[in-house]
Amino acid sequence: TEKLLFESEKLTAVGQLAASIAHEIRNPLTSIKGFLQLIKGTNEKVNKNYLNIMADEITRIEMITGELLLLAKPQAHDFQYEYLNKIVEDVVLLLSSQALINHVEVNVTINRVPLMKCVPNQLKQVFINLIKNAIEAMPTGGVITIHASQQQDTSIRIVIEDEGGGIPQEFLDKIGTPFYTTKEKGTGLGLMTTLKIIDFHHGTLNISSVINKGTKIEIILPLEQTTTLKGNLSK
Ligand code: ADP
Ligand code: MG
Repeated sequence: TEKLLFESEKLTAVGQLAASIAHEIRNPLTSIKGFLQLIKGTNEKVNKNYLNIMADEITRIEMITGELLLLAKPQAHDFQYEYLNKIVEDVVLLLSSQALINHVEVNVTINRVPLMKCVPNQLKQVFINLIKNAIEAMPTGGVITIHASQQQDTSIRIVIEDEGGGIPQEFLDKIGTPFYTTKEKGTGLGLMTTLKIIDFHHGTLNISSVINKGTKIEIILPLEQTTTLKGNLSK
């Protein structure tokens, strides 16, 4: 079992991030421009193939910019009291058809936990990212187990486990780095965004993974946000 603790110091600097975003967005744009040029140059009816590629590339830009929008600065008033149960149940329902199609069963057990001060939409995004990754890690189906309970008086511990292929150690080190993906249609932004949001909530995230057995993600979130707001999520 390999374990990795993500800390705020490990998060990529904004400047480096901006440069890689510019690079990633330029790639599909260059491709779209190229195909437009080709279409303009032909007298034949519009080449459907070019249009399909262009549509795919535009979808890609949408996905990248969509994930990045989440890094926008949340305001103090975005914090509210919400039950973790509600957030997780909403996400599981949202992803239920995707799970069904992929023969994935999602088992949720959440012990009675108190209201938690959080930005619910951001935590929703965290669970969407993690559960999606778990589904995508099990192409032939399997079980995702989600368990949550109160830890001491001050925090909630959430564990998400899958039975997927696991993450090799050399990749574990790169996880959370923007645009690192092993998927043909991945953005490589899900885990980075997840880490930022957890960090913003003053929480911690641990990944342990065993090849061909599965991946376990442990999140610890404080029930209250006693410390002052970390001004900007993108810092
Ligand atoms: P994306 O899902 O778009 O690839 P992520 O940031 O969500 O981007 O994940 C980055 C990479 O981490 C994935 O491409 C995959 O290789 C690996 N990964 C993340 N979660 C899991 C998991 N539960 N099981 C196996 N690999 C995972
Ligand atoms: Mg993902």
